Amino acid sequence: MKKFTKNIEDFNCAHCGAVVQGNGYTNHCPKCLWSRHVDNNPGDRAAECGGMMKPISIEKSGDKFIITHKCEKCGKTIRQHTADNDDMETIISLSVDNSFIFGK
Ligand SMILES: [Zn+2]
Ligand SMILES: [Zn+2]
Repeated sequence: MKKFTKNIEDFNCAHCGAVVQGNGYTNHCPKCLWSRHVDNNPGDRAAECGGMMKPISIEKSGDKFIITHKCEKCGKTIRQHTADNDDMETIISLSVDNSFIFGK
């Protein structure tokens, strides 16, 4: 059997079940945008909580979006950038004021 070390992890989204290909940076699901509380700061994998993190809001930052995740277990909120493969419809549905997306 071939042995290799992966620095990035693939995982099944614990919320919607989608297979998520890790890229070593983001840990949220591109389909439902839920995340897991494994980071204290994005990417550090230092949190021991492991709770599900619900996407509670979206804001625009330059030509990217920032998702705010809130941990359902401990209540911590973490902001992180969306990834290129995130589902735009989900992003739009999460934004209360989505006028910035449509440029009105
Ligand atoms: Zn998901
Ligand atoms: Zn937590």
